[in-house]
Amino acid sequence: MKMKILSVIGARPQFVKAAVVSAEIARTPDLEDVLVHTGQHFDSNMSQLFFEEMGLRKPDYYLGVHSLPHEEMVQQMQEQMVEIIKTEHPDWVLVYGDTDSTLAGARAAHACGVKLCHVEAGLRSFNPQMQEEYNRIQTDRISDLLCVPTELAAENLRNESVDIQKVVLTGDVMKDAARAFLPMARKPQVEIPEKFVLCTLHRAENTDNPDVLKELMLSLELIAEFVPVVLPLHPRTKNKLCEIAYPFETSRVQFIDPVGYLEMLYLLNHGALVLTDSGGVQKEAYFAHKYCLTLRQETEWVELCARGYNHLLGHNHLDIVTTTRNFLEMPPIFADDLYGDGHASYQIVQAILQR
Ligand code: UDP
Repeated sequence: MKMKILSVIGARPQFVKAAVVSAEIARTPDLEDVLVHTGQHFDSNMSQLFFEEMGLRKPDYYLGVHSLPHEEMVQQMQEQMVEIIKTEHPDWVLVYGDTDSTLAGARAAHACGVKLCHVEAGLRSFNPQMQEEYNRIQTDRISDLLCVPTELAAENLRNESVDIQKVVLTGDVMKDAARAFLPMARKPQVEIPEKFVLCTLHRAENTDNPDVLKELMLSLELIAEFVPVVLPLHPRTKNKLCEIAYPFETSRVQFIDPVGYLEMLYLLNHGALVLTDSGGVQKEAYFAHKYCLTLRQETEWVELCARGYNHLLGHNHLDIVTTTRNFLEMPPIFADDLYGDGHASYQIVQAILQR
């Protein structure tokens, strides 16, 4: 009989990760995959597009839970997943990253006594205000298999006295994805300037405080005076900009709709520089050999900062504008080969099989 894995996805970065891991599960004769989409991200260009572009198969279950306060959302997702687990009797539940869907899947597995595998375990921002930090710590605590992307993530878990037998250094599945899909990268169907800075913005700490959001938008307006800024606009950020009556019509920033992963790979590889508050995009900038300026006070991907590929900028507009100007002049020197060998999905599947 095949070993059954119930994979939980729900947010954009999880579609990217599952595209490579579920493909690896499908290639493995002794395994079968049940795919649960919580519905956390539901706009077609935040969800369906990824299934179409990346060949991710249609989910077996769609929960349709979204746009709720954290605890309520986790609770509703968890309740539905407990029922699915009772029906499907999986051997493992597999969760990715640090979203509410991750925590809900983890809690459902735990409640049902099913083994839990956490992909992207051990990452820490050490910022207790971040919802994502809470989600990942809670998930790590109840996981049976902790697949860490870096040695440092393993060290974080050791420092929390996690049983080291549970920890496997697999490398980062986003490297697998960048490698697998780069040959299919394609230009978005909008006019993209020859030289541009790519920006993404969606973290609550940046979007939910109007003063911070205004300061960040001021920075981008000032940068757009000397280099075009292309910003695929996350729905959350769009809503928050509407709330502060941001003048889209007169803005110098080039807003575009959220793009699919293949278009994103094009933008990453053709942009001059990346400005972001995304976790995944920081690494993707590195894979594309582009300097990254991170619009946060801290990052989980400290190894990029230690090597000078990534710089933490916070949200002061003078810092952001000056540093962007300086980095546009810097020749790209990328010497290391971080985040594994691009076969993290294989390592994850093997780790599950061996248990
Ligand atoms: N991404 C995308 N289209 C976009 C913006 C981001 O495909 O318009 C991809 C990006 O390349 C990365 C993932 O979405 O693979 C990151 O998701 P996000 O920034 O939403 O989440 P985080 O990584 O911060 O959890």
